[in-house]
Amino acid sequence: MEGASLPAHYFDGHGARAWPVVLTREQSHLRITGDTVGLRFALNKLDWPERTRGGARVMELPGGASIECCDALAWDAFARACGQRDSWVVRLQQSASTAIVSLFILLLLLGAAYLWGIPLAARIILVFVPSSVDRAIGAATLRSLDQIVLQPSALPKAQRGVLRAVFEQALAHQGDAAQITHQVEFRHSPLIGPNAFALPGGTIIVTDELVRATQADPATFVGVLGHEFGHLQARHGMRLVLQASVVGVLSGILIGDVSSLLAVAPAVLGQAAYSRTFEREADRESVRVLLGAGLSPVIMATFFTKIATRSQRMDSLGIAIASHPADAQRIQFFLDMARKAGFPLQP
Ligand SMILES: [Zn+2]
Repeated sequence: MEGASLPAHYFDGHGARAWPVVLTREQSHLRITGDTVGLRFALNKLDWPERTRGGARVMELPGGASIECCDALAWDAFARACGQRDSWVVRLQQSASTAIVSLFILLLLLGAAYLWGIPLAARIILVFVPSSVDRAIGAATLRSLDQIVLQPSALPKAQRGVLRAVFEQALAHQGDAAQITHQVEFRHSPLIGPNAFALPGGTIIVTDELVRATQADPATFVGVLGHEFGHLQARHGMRLVLQASVVGVLSGILIGDVSSLLAVAPAVLGQAAYSRTFEREADRESVRVLLGAGLSPVIMATFFTKIATRSQRMDSLGIAIASHPADAQRIQFFLDMARKAGFPLQP
């Protein structure tokens, strides 16, 4: 646009005096005209100020002088008339599509916070949750499971006593680690099948079906319960419950009311499954208990190969040991541990 003009002030770079001038475009040049000023600059040699929301526009000129214009809108119009385009940053800031991209990035960040932040938050909250809460949640969950999927055990009382004693003897080699509250309970459950699981607070449930399927083999029993004991040690069940309800429950714990946790726990423990990390932690504990008692970890590889993979209704209780077909990696872990400890790989 030829002949565009704009009133502004000129500072010579030496004094503070503002000289009234008029800016005009002459082809590819900017002319600055005033009573004592007559300058001409190539447009492409000028360092145009970025367009911001308001305020005066100041343009530094080669040689230390500068031009100031208080009418930002008029300046911007003049700058456009001089062929000046916004930098990419300003264009980004001012475009609608940028707002959409920003929103998208924000959602990504929220998603990341959800994925990684909540497990972290649950771990931190866990430290402040007293063990009485674990026990209350375990009891509520067991009541609920007893109504839906569990029935009283049909195993002879003496057999249950022997199995409990076998596990306690094995745990006795673990020293202080064995001090964690735990009690082994038996239940008949055609629905869950040969399985075992640990509830917050220390209750380990073993199904009659598991005892029968393993022919009440003491070593297998120790390995399976060692795994469940590992879940108890790390309070994995509580971590699942907290992760599932971390936002709503935080305030409840802070004011000492855990009723919302109690309400959500049975559903969470009934449907959620432990992560691979949790399972690996529990498997390591199983190996510790087995080796401590002088038993071969091979027994767990056998268990997973024969029992876990043929367990029916695998999806009926996600936290149970045989909930998912055991992967080769997991079986290999027990074989490796057995080999390292010098046990033969054939059971
Ligand atoms: Zn497990």
